[in-house]
Parts: sequence; C-alpha cells; structure tokens
Amino acid sequence: MTLFAEGQDKQALENVDIRPLFGDEEEAAVLELLRAGTISQLSTETVARFEQEFADYIGVSHAVAVHSGTAAVHTALIAAGVTAGQEVIVPAFTFIGTVGPVLHQHAVPVFADIDPASFCLDPDSVEQRITPNTKAILAVDLFGQAADWEPLQHLAAKHGLALVDDACQSHGATYQGKKLGSIAPLTAFSFQESKNMTTGEGGMVTTYDPDLAAICRQVRQQGEQTWGHIARVGYNYRMTALQAAIGRAQLQKLEQFNARRAAIAAAYREGLGSLPLVLPAPMSYGQHVYHVYSFLLPAALAPRRQEVAEALREQGVPIGIAYPKPLYHSPVFQHLDVEPCPKSEDIASRVLTLPTAPSLGVETAKAIAAVTAQVITGFVA
Ligand SMILES: *Cc1c(COP(=O)(O)O)cnc(C)c1O
Repeated sequence: MTLFAEGQDKQALENVDIRPLFGDEEEAAVLELLRAGTISQLSTETVARFEQEFADYIGVSHAVAVHSGTAAVHTALIAAGVTAGQEVIVPAFTFIGTVGPVLHQHAVPVFADIDPASFCLDPDSVEQRITPNTKAILAVDLFGQAADWEPLQHLAAKHGLALVDDACQSHGATYQGKKLGSIAPLTAFSFQESKNMTTGEGGMVTTYDPDLAAICRQVRQQGEQTWGHIARVGYNYRMTALQAAIGRAQLQKLEQFNARRAAIAAAYREGLGSLPLVLPAPMSYGQHVYHVYSFLLPAALAPRRQEVAEALREQGVPIGIAYPKPLYHSPVFQHLDVEPCPKSEDIASRVLTLPTAPSLGVETAKAIAAVTAQVITGFVA
C-alpha cells in the first residue's frame, strides 16, 4: 500500500492540496457495496465491522458508528444522562460541534477557560464553575492533543459528574500511554472530511461500558430497544455502509496519516522556530496527532491578525483561524450569563492555523513555513 506517490511533494505553493487521500482500497470497498446493492447500515455487516475494528484500534470493547461527530457528541451526552436544564462545563475555545449538542439537550453550557500550553480545558477553571446543578464535564482534545484527563477525572469523581470526551480532532492521540477513546467513559470522534481519517461525514462513540453502549445504539436507532418497542427519544443517526467501507480503509492508514501530519508539524516548527511566535508543543503526558497547526502571534500583533492573515493568503499560504473568538460571543449563546475566560480571549485574538493534511507533503509544508516566516517577519520588524 503506497500512500504517498513519488514526486507528490510539490515544491511551490501554487497547487496546495489539502484534500483527503483515498486509494484503491476505498474505491474497491465502495464499488463492492454498490454492486451488491447493500449501501445502508441495515443491509450489510460493514458498519458493524468498522465499529469492531475501530474499537480494537482504540482499545475499548464498544464503538457505535453515527453519521457525524456532532451526532456522536449528542449521543454521548444522552448516554451520560444530560437532560434539560442541567449544566455541562465546556471549553470556551473550541468548535461549535462540541457545544451545539448541549443546546440540543436543552442543557446549559457553562464555559470554562483553557490552559494556554495545551489549548485544552484548564481543570482549575472547571472546578470554579462546578455548581449543584452541574451534570457533566465535556472536555475537548483540541487540535490533535489530549486534554489533561487525570485532574478532570479527579474532579468528576469528587463531585459525582459525568465525563465526556470530544476527541473529534484526535484519532490515535494518547494520554499516559492509552489512546483517547479509552480514557473517558464516553468519547466522540468525527470522520468529517478535514479530520485525521474521514468517511466524508461520519462519527463514532467509544465506550468500555456495555450499558452505555446499549444506550448509544438505541439513540442512533430511533430510541428502539426491540423492533416496535421504543425505550427513549431517539434519532436516525445511522452511518451508511458506504461511509463505513471508506472508514475501514482509512483506519488502516491512520497511523501513516498521523506520521505524515507530525512530519508536516515538524517542518512548520523548524521553519517558524526563530520567530517570536508561540508554537504548539506536545505535552509530556501524551502523543499529539496534529489535526491542524495552530500557533500564536505576539500579543502586540493581535490587532493586526486579519492583516497578517490576508498578507499570508496573498502569498498562497493556506492560513486559517481556529478559532477567531470564544464561542460565548456568538449570538446563539447570548441568553447565557457567562463568566469571562481571559486566556481563551487572548488566544483566540492572536491564533493562526496552518493545515497539516497529509496530502500537503513535507516539501510543501517547508515552503509554506518559509513564506509564512518571511511574511510575519515583515510585521514583527
Ligand atoms: C469536527 C468536530 C466536531 C463535529 O464533527 P462533525 O463530524 O463535523 O459533526 C465536534 N467537535 C470538534 C472539536 C470537532 O473538531
């Protein structure tokens, strides 16, 4: 299986490619299902096989496939017992896919601040926000790096809280030697196109608890316990067999994809290391899988971040901003009484994000880093 063809590394920034990588394996698997006329979850074993292989890879007993990462977070929150009016502590600095499902449950997101070293939840900030109405902590392993789970587990145990992991950006990342997906009782993954492995759209909940797995299966399948017997409010969150077939092939390549992402991150670190930037650094407690490469401009440049981004784009650098502001500034959260999160504010004001898609190639990443360094030097000087 060759993932990266000879000469695929492009020298220039003219053809920057961040599309997912597919090969003969995905193509053959999809064709087989199409020819057999078995493309849904209910018509073949493909989804069940993908679940088993994903569970084995993560090192848990159960994986439940759903049709998006957002559906996976929602399903996990339901299995954790989150209901209307309860508080769920979430990071202020994350993607809306983390927090939307809290609203779907008519629960109350309580935004906590992040640790600037990891970009993930700060356990001290979480502790300050625990009230008698707190039901769960929903932590995110942001940008491919684990949150610091041990203190969060300690808080959850001390206060009797459910713990849910949004690992939608962290397939294959580890915490203290164990893969994410096996740390919290419930973990959500996404297979959306930009993620470390993809099925186009798709998601998975992993758990080591058979009772929680059974609830997740009901939630995915209309709340059904047995045919015609509806145990709870459910959804149609099923994944198609076509998605699962692609997922099975992608899972075989995940470690190679992640190695390529790490090599791209190393190229960025080397190219940007001499500038006064804050670059992402792997925490000592686990392995980073670099979903993206988010770094910080010097504080003095925060007011000019948009200008810097535009100058980079003009030079062909595929720069993004993940994420431009703490989530609580969005209109959908205006009804909430939010305690400010100064570290999230600061980081969101000066973050810039480079892609680490394996299709970029290391040579292109070096070229991106060189051009980025040149442009930013012009602003720093
Ligand atoms: C992608 C993502 C989601 C949602 O996943 P979808 O598959 O896009 O629904 C949730 N949380 C985080 C942190 C994500 O990156």
